Amino acid sequence: MASAESELQQRKALALAAHDASGRVTPIHISRRDTGDNDVAIKILYCGICHSDLHTIKNDWRNAIYPVVAGHEITGLVTDVGKNVSRFKVGDRVGVGCMVNTCQSCESCKDGFENYCSKIVYTYNSRDRDGTVTYGGYSDMVVVNQRFVVRFPDGMPLDGGAPLLCAGITVYTPMKYHGLNEPGKSVGVIGLGGLGHVAVKFAKAFGMRVTVISTSPEKEEEAMEKLGVDTFVVSTDPNQMKSVMGTMHVIINTASASMSMYPYLGLLKPQGKMILLGLPVKPLEISAFALVGGKPVLKKKGVLLRQDSGRELYGSVGDTQEMIDFAAEHGVTADIELVGAEDVNWAMERLAKGEVRYRFVIDVGNTLVAA
Ligand SMILES: [Zn+2]
Ligand SMILES: [Zn+2]
Repeated sequence: MASAESELQQRKALALAAHDASGRVTPIHISRRDTGDNDVAIKILYCGICHSDLHTIKNDWRNAIYPVVAGHEITGLVTDVGKNVSRFKVGDRVGVGCMVNTCQSCESCKDGFENYCSKIVYTYNSRDRDGTVTYGGYSDMVVVNQRFVVRFPDGMPLDGGAPLLCAGITVYTPMKYHGLNEPGKSVGVIGLGGLGHVAVKFAKAFGMRVTVISTSPEKEEEAMEKLGVDTFVVSTDPNQMKSVMGTMHVIINTASASMSMYPYLGLLKPQGKMILLGLPVKPLEISAFALVGGKPVLKKKGVLLRQDSGRELYGSVGDTQEMIDFAAEHGVTADIELVGAEDVNWAMERLAKGEVRYRFVIDVGNTLVAA
């Protein structure tokens, strides 16, 4: 019987899915593949809520494949491994970030830059190589090829560490590849949200001098005292902006709203770089004059290695492991608000308004349970 056979090769999982552009999530049952020879099955305990999740479930990028099960900041425990898996065993603490498959044979894959593979399969809302649509971490379990699984060191919490799998690697990679991970370098961080606060923590761990440029004066006290920011500038105050003109080697721009680049580019030192990490829905405003004067270089995320690629998102799995190990060593974690599965819709509304300090993480293990 064909149906019995296909049931044998699949297992049921519980998930929170969005069904249309309202973005509202509700519990559903989904199928996960059985553990293949190279697979690791993971009981999901936590999953961060990334701004990309919100954009995707609301179909802001016009690419949603409903039902969408979002989530690419996944942490949990290994429950089962395939026969070729030697790096992981049952009970290991692990994480899965933004990708779950690639061709595994092209030059990028062979060189350990699988995030540049043209056949990359994202953790959710993407077609896997077998044609199935991928479902992310708003779910009680997932099966992932071992190559895309990251080990969590003992000291790294699974809740506060989860957001590092997207937010962390997204800020770590450009710091590493643009040579910014050196004491004394000066970095500006635009936007103090999920990405921005992690950028501040990594920059401080590297010994950099950090200026936060924010539209929210009320974030100043916490930024200076809790995050150790050296200078806080309110972007709508021309005098404050003037006081930091030409002082930054690099600006990490995490703003997810469209904005004029002109005033910000003036903050860079000559040969400075602005790295765009936020993904606003509307086009950015950039005047050619802003780029010509003083020669700042506008870079997309992690673009240094492959300027011709349109897919330089996130970071490789190797870099993600390195980032997690570095974070564990330096005590870098995200500041999170833990929410239950029943509160995800409410959390999404607050995220849309920028009301989270600084990342929501879903307590999947304790709250996503069958009714
Ligand atoms: Zn993300
Ligand atoms: Zn490849």
